[in-house]
Amino acid sequence: MRKETTISINEEDLKFIVQEEFEQIVDLAKHNSYCRNCFQKNKVEMINYSLALNDLNDVIFQGTCKTCGSNIARYVEIGEQPKFRMRTEIIKAKRINKN
Ligand SMILES: [Zn+2]
Repeated sequence: MRKETTISINEEDLKFIVQEEFEQIVDLAKHNSYCRNCFQKNKVEMINYSLALNDLNDVIFQGTCKTCGSNIARYVEIGEQPKFRMRTEIIKAKRINKN
């Protein structure tokens, strides 16, 4: 089993990668996250989230449940899509050069 490595990105980076699908992806992550406290009780909304890319080039939203304050996360699988791959590599290369 290999350890998953992630790199932090910001909203501008995500916008660059997914372009016109940005709003849709953010909306999906914010409103379709799973919270174990609020499951089947309240509508879950993620607030104060940060963004990261994993090894598979999927986006990870990590934030807080607006209702109960739990830490919640949501993966959005964009790594499978060839149209995003090139721009994801550009973002990753930029991050690596900074270190
Ligand atoms: Zn909750």
